[in-house]
Amino acid sequence: CGIVGYIGDKDASSILMAGLNKLEYRGYDSAGIALYQQDQIEVCKRVGKLDNLEELVADKDPQGQVGIGHTRWATHGKPSTPNAHPHTGCEGEFVIVHNGIIENYLSLKEELLQQGHDFSSETDTEVLVHLLEEHYTGDLAETVRRVAAKLEGSYAFVALTVNEPDRLIAVRQDSPLIVGLNDGEYFVASDIPAILEHTDEVYILDDGEMAVVTKAGVNLSTIEGEPVDKDIFTVDWNP
Ligand code: GLU
Repeated sequence: CGIVGYIGDKDASSILMAGLNKLEYRGYDSAGIALYQQDQIEVCKRVGKLDNLEELVADKDPQGQVGIGHTRWATHGKPSTPNAHPHTGCEGEFVIVHNGIIENYLSLKEELLQQGHDFSSETDTEVLVHLLEEHYTGDLAETVRRVAAKLEGSYAFVALTVNEPDRLIAVRQDSPLIVGLNDGEYFVASDIPAILEHTDEVYILDDGEMAVVTKAGVNLSTIEGEPVDKDIFTVDWNP
């Protein structure tokens, strides 16, 4: 339902939580954030209101300058904490948030189960993170391209791995996604309000496009790998 991501020098946890608060109006049944913290992915997620998540975040106090967050509106799998995003795979090296529906998730899941993957949720989304694990080449952007080629359905997703903690990879197919630009910090979101307090300059991704987002800048391409040249859109409404 709602996506937010951050990479920069600031405390990602508070930026992600503020972003999720701004996306609350869209409705949701659970929420979570994941941060890169000391060579690991730290996940906080809870079913129910953001207040529940806020308690957990205050408790765990995750520290990091890169991370992703999500408010979920369940389509596959009941509203529950295990089904809440972000989702990590078997080894905990990859993490993902996703909006939309992976239509062919059952056949993908079947294959992944045969390859020995254990699933910890009932969601369609979880296949994405196991596919990243299974097909990882050492280059997350390239791996996301390979994985996206297998997908049917509508999706906007953002991926992060401990192996390349300096980047977020964001992809859009039939579900909105934007990249927010600021000096030395970048944002990803499903909707402008999530990041408008930080920047009014955004790239609006089109279907079939992906962004490699680092602290130093954004690289846009098609999912097939063709470079994309896009004007910066300046939001001219007030928060
Ligand atoms: N299909 C995914 C799920 O049920 C994502 C739902 C959403 O867009 O929030 O977990």
